[in-house]
Amino acid sequence: MRAVIFRQHGDPEVLEYAEFPKPEPGPGEVQVRLRAAALNHVDLFVRTGWPGLRLELPHILGSDGAGEVSELGEGVTEFSVGDRVVLNANLSCGGCDYCLSGQDNMCRDWHLLGETVRGTYAEHVVVPARNLLPLPEGFDFAEAAAASLVFLTAWHSLISRGKLKAGETVLVVGASGGVNTASIQVAKLAGAEVYVVGSNDEKLGLAESLGASKLINRAEEPEWSRAVYQASAKRGVDVVVDNVGAGSLPLSMRAARKGGRILTVGNTAGAKFEFDNRYMFGKHLTLIGSTMGTHADFRKAMQLVFERRLKPVLDRAYALDQAQAAHIRLAAGEQMGKIVLEI
Ligand code: ZN
Repeated sequence: MRAVIFRQHGDPEVLEYAEFPKPEPGPGEVQVRLRAAALNHVDLFVRTGWPGLRLELPHILGSDGAGEVSELGEGVTEFSVGDRVVLNANLSCGGCDYCLSGQDNMCRDWHLLGETVRGTYAEHVVVPARNLLPLPEGFDFAEAAAASLVFLTAWHSLISRGKLKAGETVLVVGASGGVNTASIQVAKLAGAEVYVVGSNDEKLGLAESLGASKLINRAEEPEWSRAVYQASAKRGVDVVVDNVGAGSLPLSMRAARKGGRILTVGNTAGAKFEFDNRYMFGKHLTLIGSTMGTHADFRKAMQLVFERRLKPVLDRAYALDQAQAAHIRLAAGEQMGKIVLEI
């Protein structure tokens, strides 16, 4: 099969469009002929590498994917060759105490497709049958691939972990990335009032079109926590979604109301930073971490996507052999929504 592989960590130039052996499905697994993949920030982190990350090289990136079932492993009866499917990138064992209690994203042998296991920048991928969901008639492969990881992540963070309720106020730090555009929509659908801090008016315009009603341009308001405080009648917001990390979390703590919750699923601007702990205890804040989501979250979030109540925001689509250009665009932060690879 054709695939985008890398033989060593490094800049986008390490990505090679090459021939690679097609993976074969084992018992309980399904091989999918992919038609679309989508990029996530984790792709950049894995390509660059980090201390302790040990991959079997060459590696194939990509967590999001949709396509057609092309081969069934032994014992798989719920799918047929040719079925159109979207895949859940969360790989869990199905048998540990976490999995059996429905917390499969905390599985003792958890892996993310494309991170430690070869992923979807390829013509074929193999996943367990339980990681596949049938696509409704006519639902677009690119939209399905673009939706899966970000809506799963936003749903798990805001609803399953954050217990967001109708009538609450939510601040999303960042206007245009995949998880942020998903978080704005999930918060709005839950009945919350949504504030967004963004870097320019174009990105804030996108946030507004998705349901945000209080828009703060951080180019004009570098101390944006003050603007949030003023806009919320000097109360602060109930919930802050902060996936930026460095430079941002201290301001998020200031923007939250007393007793507020801060949700984080990542750190696009850096993982290590300092904060003033007096805000943490003095304001009775709760910091809630989560990553990805469970199979149940995936089914719920994708059902809402299929019903068009949650809509993936598509940035540009690139052909699979243009993965280098796609990575350069994502790294520059120029995208408005999800960058897709057509396969
Ligand atoms: Zn498990």
